[in-house]
Amino acid sequence: MRPPPPFTRSLAVALGVAAGWLLVVAVIAVAAGNLVGIAVLAAVGAVMAAACGLATWRSARRVEAWLGEQLHGTARDLETSQQAFRRAIARLGETLAATHDREKILEAVSETAQLAVGAQRGIFYEYIPARKVLLARSGFGPDVPELHLPLGTGLAGASAEGRAPLRYPGPIAPVFPEPEVGTAMAVPFSSRGQLLGVVAVYGHTAGATFGDDDVEALVTLVAQAGTAVDNVSLHEEARRLSITDGLTGLWNRRQLDLRCQEELERAIRFSRPVGVVFCDVDLFKDVNTEWQHLGGDAVLVEVAQRLSAATREIDVVARYGGEEFVLLLPETDLAGARILAEKVRRAMCDEPVEHNGKTRTVTLSLGVASYPHSGTSVRTLLAAAQEALKRAKENGRNRIEEAHPMMRSTG
Ligand code: GH3
Ligand code: MG
Ligand code: MG
Repeated sequence: MRPPPPFTRSLAVALGVAAGWLLVVAVIAVAAGNLVGIAVLAAVGAVMAAACGLATWRSARRVEAWLGEQLHGTARDLETSQQAFRRAIARLGETLAATHDREKILEAVSETAQLAVGAQRGIFYEYIPARKVLLARSGFGPDVPELHLPLGTGLAGASAEGRAPLRYPGPIAPVFPEPEVGTAMAVPFSSRGQLLGVVAVYGHTAGATFGDDDVEALVTLVAQAGTAVDNVSLHEEARRLSITDGLTGLWNRRQLDLRCQEELERAIRFSRPVGVVFCDVDLFKDVNTEWQHLGGDAVLVEVAQRLSAATREIDVVARYGGEEFVLLLPETDLAGARILAEKVRRAMCDEPVEHNGKTRTVTLSLGVASYPHSGTSVRTLLAAAQEALKRAKENGRNRIEEAHPMMRSTG
């Protein structure tokens, strides 16, 4: 058999090298979970095709050198992409396990999604049920625009409405203000059965079209984010239950103690006043007797609502226990606390409480105290307010009494 002419031999060597690289890249691509591999395989294929087209080149050596350079560049790119993907996966794992921040979870997911499917840009849309719109919240690629998409509009809107992943090209196309691209995917994002939003990616970095595999990858990532957000919600719920009262939703006594301690420390440090109002429902046993225990519960819920409505955002409204409530009033002296107590007293006695078609007037007795007037510790302040409340009961109920000034040691 005759040896091939020198040029043909060189071309054969070049194609052999390319085929070798193709095999290496294919193996790495499979190992890396088929990520950027497909794009790289396409690039290597293009290089091989180019090699064939270079048959007219005078020097086959130059073909080999050029080919080698291209393949090395491609391998470098692949390695960089793999490193970025590995970093993103590691960060995603850490974020999902450790964070209680929904925004961070969604950022990590969209970053991983970008690398996993090779998307040019991605947007997380938050669903606002009251307005039936999607609002662009975060994403990767160019800055997230001020996007408002009505439910059912465009690719992301249709995916949210149908609660199903969508791929473009397909029956539904992205519409303005979604980015104008040749290919896109949108996957609804839910937690505990509630639609929270949509993760959408637009455009492929290698100019390819998203396939069913890409949709599957995005659905898997979004499902993981959903589980992480479920955990965040459960954590928040557990925390809420541990610091609030189950019946009224007000702060519980443990939380009141902590907040009193914090506020008092601040007041002492900055020489500012703090007011405390102790409230007790008058003759509450009668409510329970006449309206049964459930009727009594309804009255407690109504009292809690009126107390909350009468106070400021910075005030702490807590259920101390039974039919006793405490108001902690930052930046409020004894006179201010008394004014607030009067507002609360009127809020109860001026408007009867209704339950099961029946009404009755419910009144409160209140004791007010303040730092530094009536005490300098949480214990002495609460005790002073409680003592004033006792006098309010003794003096006829539905009234307010003030704590005595603290007895100061004269040394
Ligand atoms: P006073 O004007 O002297 O305060 O009279 P009162 O009837 O309110 O007296 P007391 O403080 O002794 O009664 C409180 C009652 O509140 C007794 C208890 O059974 C009832 N109670 C405590 N917690 C709850 C609750 O969560 N729901 C209901 N329905 N009743 C409760
Ligand atoms: Mg009581
Ligand atoms: Mg009572």
